Amino acid sequence: MSETDTRTTDETERARRPGRERGRDDGKFGRYGGQYVPEALMPAIEELTDAYERYVLGNEDGFMDEFRERLADFGGRPTPLQRADRLSERYDTDVFLKREDLVHGGAHKLNNALGQVLLAKYMGKERIVAETGAGQHGTATAMAAAHLDMPCEIYMGERDINRQRPNVFRMKLNGAEVNPVTAGRGTLKEAISETMRDWATTVENTHYVIGSIVGPHPFPVMVRDFQAVISEEAREQAIEKTGGLPTDVVACAGGGSNTMGAFADFVDDEAVALHAVEAGGSTLEVDEEAGVAPNSASLCAGDEGVLHGARTKLLQDSDGQIMESHSISSGLDYAGVGPELAYLVDEGRVSPVAVDDDAALEGFHRLSRTEGIIPALETAHAFGFLEEHHEELGERVVVNVSGRGDKDLDAAIEETDKRDIDEAPDMSMFTGGI
Ligand SMILES: *Cc1c(COP(=O)(O)O)cnc(C)c1O
Repeated sequence: MSETDTRTTDETERARRPGRERGRDDGKFGRYGGQYVPEALMPAIEELTDAYERYVLGNEDGFMDEFRERLADFGGRPTPLQRADRLSERYDTDVFLKREDLVHGGAHKLNNALGQVLLAKYMGKERIVAETGAGQHGTATAMAAAHLDMPCEIYMGERDINRQRPNVFRMKLNGAEVNPVTAGRGTLKEAISETMRDWATTVENTHYVIGSIVGPHPFPVMVRDFQAVISEEAREQAIEKTGGLPTDVVACAGGGSNTMGAFADFVDDEAVALHAVEAGGSTLEVDEEAGVAPNSASLCAGDEGVLHGARTKLLQDSDGQIMESHSISSGLDYAGVGPELAYLVDEGRVSPVAVDDDAALEGFHRLSRTEGIIPALETAHAFGFLEEHHEELGERVVVNVSGRGDKDLDAAIEETDKRDIDEAPDMSMFTGGI
């Protein structure tokens, strides 16, 4: 058998792990998931489902082998599983960091973007569209599209464009077109709707790269399968480094792609506790009249509903209107969550926890100061969780470091200046107080 043949066997076996079967047949996770899309999108969805089954599950034409090779050479995988010595001492438990912040682009998002752009190539598509909120997924998609020589258009709310100029520039540097969306509040929710509209009329030559485990089937299972490389590696690395499985796996959850990626291969290991850390914002209390949820905690505080093609847990008011969400971290600022996570929470397999803005910012400073790793503000929620809940955890904890914090430095200066944080450096020289 040639080397390629060996890897092909691995791929098929990997794809068939029992934990990964969930949702694959019909896109249903218990009552969640589904394909709530307009008629015009059905042909696109069906074509994509067929391609997912053939190339991702069946490794047709060696798709998964090429994906893994590009993840390694372009993406920098595998990422390390690193022991965090100071945090281990602080919490009197072994804390390990899965370093997704070291993936090319600075976050886990490339795992999925690269997978989908490559799939589009195998499907014979000639154009990529994607939505982006804070610009992280748009940036990852633009990078992957440039790498694979595919024209790329990104839809982004006008308000977000003005708030995220460096990311807009990154996308343009990588050759992508950025289309401003002016509808509604000009943020992620409207950008997703606009991208779906584009896709419905261009499906013959276009693939829509969705940014998390959300949307209609097959997106939630497909994005999970691309992100599952995180837990594939972490599981092997944990066994190799410590001789056993972790007791706990912790990841922050926005749409939930780094979360499901970090959980996927541990779901069947009943002894491993899985913690999804949501953005608690300023409070879990909701101001119905203002139509605003001051958090993004759809697992902890949401109700069942349909958004962007799937039934899931959503932040909505008593009339079922989707509410505006809030978080200190733009990447967690979404009113919904992946249907698979909603299901695993209802089943009691995943524990949802909310960590508020203050605790996340403290986590940001703590990891930076004690371990020399500046995390994304999204990721910082997982470290807020560790501080608040370490007494409930077992002796070997893996935390998914979903991304690095370079993109958040301006926000961190502004937010730190508003608060009194023990571990923060003296901020006066950054905030005009010298
Ligand atoms: C986008 C992002 C998230 C949230 O997205 P998920 O789909 O929930 O993973 C978390 N961390 C970082 C660093 C991000 O960029």
